[in-house]
Amino acid sequence: LDDGLRCIGCGALMQVDDPEKSGYLPMSALKKAIDSDELFCQRCFRLRHYNEIQPVELTDDDFARLLHQISDTKALIVYVIDVFDVTGSEIAGLPRFVGQDNPILVVANKVDLLPKLLNKNRLKQWLQAELKAQGIKAADIFLTSATRPQNLDELLATIDDLRAGRDVFVVGVTNVGKSTLINQIIKASTGVQDLITTSRFPGTTLDRIEIPLADGKQLIDTPGIIKRDQIAHVLRDKDLKFALPKNEIKPRTYQLNAAQTLFIGGLARFDFEAGARAAMTAYFENNLNLHRTKLAGADAFYDKHAGQLLTPAPQITTPLVKHTFNTSEKSDIVFAGLGWISVPAGVQVSGWAPQGVSVLIRKAMI
Ligand code: GDP
Repeated sequence: LDDGLRCIGCGALMQVDDPEKSGYLPMSALKKAIDSDELFCQRCFRLRHYNEIQPVELTDDDFARLLHQISDTKALIVYVIDVFDVTGSEIAGLPRFVGQDNPILVVANKVDLLPKLLNKNRLKQWLQAELKAQGIKAADIFLTSATRPQNLDELLATIDDLRAGRDVFVVGVTNVGKSTLINQIIKASTGVQDLITTSRFPGTTLDRIEIPLADGKQLIDTPGIIKRDQIAHVLRDKDLKFALPKNEIKPRTYQLNAAQTLFIGGLARFDFEAGARAAMTAYFENNLNLHRTKLAGADAFYDKHAGQLLTPAPQITTPLVKHTFNTSEKSDIVFAGLGWISVPAGVQVSGWAPQGVSVLIRKAMI
C-alpha cells in the first residue's frame, strides 16, 4: 500500500503484510473496509466490535519514548507480570523511567498455575524480593488470574485507591496476560465501552487504548513489549501447547543421586553433578515428559532420542547450552518460561536449555 491510507481509529498507516505491526488489515478485509468507508485496522476493528485488544511489535526507540512519556506524567503504573515466568516478565529500563513519584502496582498474573496450597503471603514476600532485584519497589502486589478472575472488583478498588486521582498506565511484556486482563477490565466497566478510544503516544508509532475512569482520568493500555528470549520463540506453535502450562502445576519430586540427569522433554536438561542424595522437585506443564537417566550417557542419549522419546524438541536443532550452579540455600534452577526444579543447599547442578533461553538460579519460590 503506497497511497498512504490511514486507520480512522488510531491513525496508523494501513498495511497488509505484518499482523504483528500497527495498521495491519488482511487484503481481503481491506477492500471491504474501503468500500464501506469503515477503514479500521484489525486492532481497532476488534476493539470496536469485540472490545478485544492485541499486542503489536515495538522498536527500542518507540519503547524508550513510551517510557519517557510515562516518566513525564504523574501516574500510577500497573506492571503486569507472569508469576510462572517472573524473569521473562522483566521490562529492562522500567525502574529508571517510572520516575521517583509514580507508584507501581505489581499485578502478578497466572496464579492459577501455582500449587493451590502455596501460602499467598509468603509468595508476595518472595515476589517483593525478586522485584527488588529488578530495581522495582512495589507499592503493592496483587495476585490474580486473568483467565479466571475472582477478585477483579478488588483489583479495580486497589487501582483506584493507589492512583489517587492520577491516570493509570498498564505496562507488561507480551504473554504475561495483559490483554486478557485489560479485556476483563473493559467487560467489567459496562456502559463505558463506547467511550474507549485509541490514540498515539506522541512521536511514536504506538497506539494507546484509553479507558475512561470515573473522575475524567484514564486507564491507558500500552503496547505489549515483545521479549526475544522467551521459550515461545524457540518452539513451534504445536509444541508450545505441550510445553506451557494451562492448569495448576502438579509438582513432581525425584529422589536423585549425584551423576543423574533429568531430561525435560527434548527442551531442557538438568544434571545433578555433586552433593548428597536429595529430593528435587520439578515444576513443569503436567504432560511434559520428564525422563531420568545417567549423567555419563546423557549426551549420547539426547542425540539418539531428541524429538522421539524426548519430545518436544526445539524448532531448529540447536544444541542445548549448559549453565552450572552451586547452591548455598534452597534454590530454584529456572528454565525461563518453561518451569523450574527446586534443589537443596550444598549441591552442584547444571541446567541446559536451547540457545537464547536463559537458565538461572533464584531463591526457592515454594
Ligand atoms: P499479553 O501478550 O500479555 O497480552 O498476553 P495474553 O493476554 O495474550 O495472554 C497470553 C497467554 O496467557 C494466553 O494464552 C492466555 O490465555 C494466557 N493467560 C492469560 N492470563 C492467564 C492466567 O491468568 N492464567 C493462565 N493460566 N493463563 C493466562
